[in-house]
Amino acid sequence: TPLRTDTLDQLDVPVPGYDRSAVTAGIVHIGVGGFHRAHQAMYVDRLLESGTATDWGICGVGVLPSDARMKAVMDEQDCLYTLVLKAPDGSWEPRVIGSIVEYLLAPDDPEAVIEKMADPAIRIVSLTVTEGGYNFHAVTGEFDADNPAVQADLQPGATPRTTFGLVVEALARRRARGITPFTVMSCDNIQGNGHVAQRMFTAFARLRDPELAGWISAEVAFPNSMVDRITPATTDEDRAEIARRYDVQDGWPVVCEPFTQWVLEDRFTLGRPPLEDVGVQVVADVEPYELMKLRLLNASHQGLCYFGYLAGYRLVHEVAQDPLFARFLLDYMDREATPTLAPVPGIDLDAYKHQLIERFSNAGVRDTVARLCAESSDRIPKWVLPVIRENLAAGRPSPLASAIVASWARYAEAVDEQGEPITVVDRLAESLTAVARTQRDDPLAFVRQRAVFGDLVDEPRFTEPYLAALDSLHRAGSRATLTALVGQPA
Ligand code: NAD
Repeated sequence: TPLRTDTLDQLDVPVPGYDRSAVTAGIVHIGVGGFHRAHQAMYVDRLLESGTATDWGICGVGVLPSDARMKAVMDEQDCLYTLVLKAPDGSWEPRVIGSIVEYLLAPDDPEAVIEKMADPAIRIVSLTVTEGGYNFHAVTGEFDADNPAVQADLQPGATPRTTFGLVVEALARRRARGITPFTVMSCDNIQGNGHVAQRMFTAFARLRDPELAGWISAEVAFPNSMVDRITPATTDEDRAEIARRYDVQDGWPVVCEPFTQWVLEDRFTLGRPPLEDVGVQVVADVEPYELMKLRLLNASHQGLCYFGYLAGYRLVHEVAQDPLFARFLLDYMDREATPTLAPVPGIDLDAYKHQLIERFSNAGVRDTVARLCAESSDRIPKWVLPVIRENLAAGRPSPLASAIVASWARYAEAVDEQGEPITVVDRLAESLTAVARTQRDDPLAFVRQRAVFGDLVDEPRFTEPYLAALDSLHRAGSRATLTALVGQPA
């Protein structure tokens, strides 16, 4: 059965029990990928199901031309899709989500997207545009004004193509019309994601009109948030299995783990949905939670993926179920990440870390090692290098985090330990691989890329363990390197 409004009552899976025709959009979301549909849209769907927040429906927006695929599916399915939670025992929990009520593709009609965001009914513009989508320099953290797409958006009379161009134009129109600005709510995995969004949007606006920039920094709220739910990319097998198990033909379902968490700073210009009623932790200060999540979960993903890939693993749960790798991750978390964390209210860190290994070990989710290995040059500087820098500043060594960096450098050579080519997915892939391939003769070459690593190469307390790990990876391989670092697991 094809998934559409008029087929919902024929389906054998849970579907929206609320009247979707009565739901209006209060949120515009840019970057409707797997994660948004497994997380924020699911929380709003819970609210709608409980009979509240009917004016907080979501209008999805795609900014990239490649989002045309999502647009086609959304049009065909009245924006409905199936969310499947996959438990470790192989059982699945499906539900059709109805909270996205509209979808616009900016490259098709930028004016419609801008006017939608300028509409007073829209009170939140939320984002999951990936770490790279914020356009900041990896080392300086400043807005990268040299990006050609940004430059194009800054030309007088240009039709906006980037998130920055679109959102700032909408804010300018609201200001001109005397409408209170919407809140910009980042839900990407970036430390201080609200602060970063604030700095980037304001920096773009300043290049366009300093007065507008002043108004944005004074009047727009950019709450920080910590978001968590492991959501792998949807596969054709997922589509086929959903059709087989439930007789639902869904062009783009979402699959994810059962665990979900959202900690959100309570700072909004025009209110927000009552998210605390559906499990969101609404708090005054998100920072302890986000540091915990980025340095334990996201950095551990980095600790797992390159070593795991080099050792021949292709699925995340296989790596996490290997006692040697689990030992390495727990040691990294205990010895190097935890000392950099502030106490996190209400969280037992020890239990959290063991739960992470269990979540990574979930064989139902079938997350891929390759997904975690992608866009490393956006991720290592945000998730792993801060741990190294903070430990160095506090006079503590961080051999395990340094070894994670070495595992990336070895992976970037783009040939695995079996001699098979690796497809490196990174916007810097070409230059990274070219540099990595010189490091057998010049072992510091990779970390001498100051645009990625800053001045770490000048710090012997980093380069010593880094060089030792890289040399061991070259001579003895991934498993032997891990064994040397953490010993044989019991
Ligand atoms: P996805 O590939 O399914 O979707 C990515 C979305 O981001 C697409 O809609 C794409 O158009 C958009 N996008 C990418 N670059 C952009 C740019 N420069 N400008 C505007 N839009 C852009 O990925 P996903 O799994 O939905 O993850 C997206 C982000 O969500 C991650 O990068 C991360 O910050 C956050 N997140 C993901 C997970 C997860 O497990 N997948 C967990 C927590 C947080």
